[in-house]
Amino acid sequence: MDTGRFTRLTGPVFAGTSADGGTGAGFVRTAMGALVIDAFLTREDGRALLEAAQAEAGRVTAVVYTHEHFDHTAGTTDFPRSGVIASEGTARGLARQLERWREELARQELAPRRPTLVFDSRVRLPWDPEVVIVELGGHAEGSSVVFVPEHRVLFTGDLVFRGRPPYVGTIQPERWVAALRTLEEWDVETVVPGHGPVGGREVLTEQRVWLEGFLERVREVRDRGTPLDEAVDLLAAEFGYAEERRRPGLRMALETRLGFGGDGVGR
Ligand SMILES: [Zn+2]
Repeated sequence: MDTGRFTRLTGPVFAGTSADGGTGAGFVRTAMGALVIDAFLTREDGRALLEAAQAEAGRVTAVVYTHEHFDHTAGTTDFPRSGVIASEGTARGLARQLERWREELARQELAPRRPTLVFDSRVRLPWDPEVVIVELGGHAEGSSVVFVPEHRVLFTGDLVFRGRPPYVGTIQPERWVAALRTLEEWDVETVVPGHGPVGGREVLTEQRVWLEGFLERVREVRDRGTPLDEAVDLLAAEFGYAEERRRPGLRMALETRLGFGGDGVGR
């Protein structure tokens, strides 16, 4: 059955997108209430998710953040006093972001809920069905995935993008490749990406192949001494970042993560 924009994938696992269709989130109906996975950017989208989860499960027991970016966290502004689960890396990252963007968040009347349960590397919730949350890093320092083994559904957060090039401004290149390789070994049937449509396990491999191709090309361009501005132009055109709003993330990645910063940071 469907609950507004949220669709039942299988068993008690639901997923849906923001009103603009761009960002994914979902929830699992458990014996303990709903576990919500990510919460979009806007209060409207967050409320739609909250209402769908409440309608299905009676109450929201906790929300888990796959990582700190506001398009996955700020929608909790109107959430009731449920738990908020995040990895240590994500909790640290969110604290930094809340400080850095304090005025902008206030102006937009957004107040992402802060984590109340911070875990180190992994946590298993025996909530029927069991839910496992594992920190893998890669997209952001604390990037985590949420897995429902009994139903073989994996919420990847932004370790997987579909239908648009991934945001790469905060990546850890090697950890991202390793994370995808790890997930490819898991017994997964359904993948809910951070952005883009739900797919099968093959989307994990598709993302890794894209990423390896991207990193190889970045190395080539870097190793022949291409200046940063020129590299941004070249790679933006080749990998789908030509749109003005997509370029800053690519630039940040090249400068701070991929060896174009002059001091070898991120190599
Ligand atoms: Zn993100």
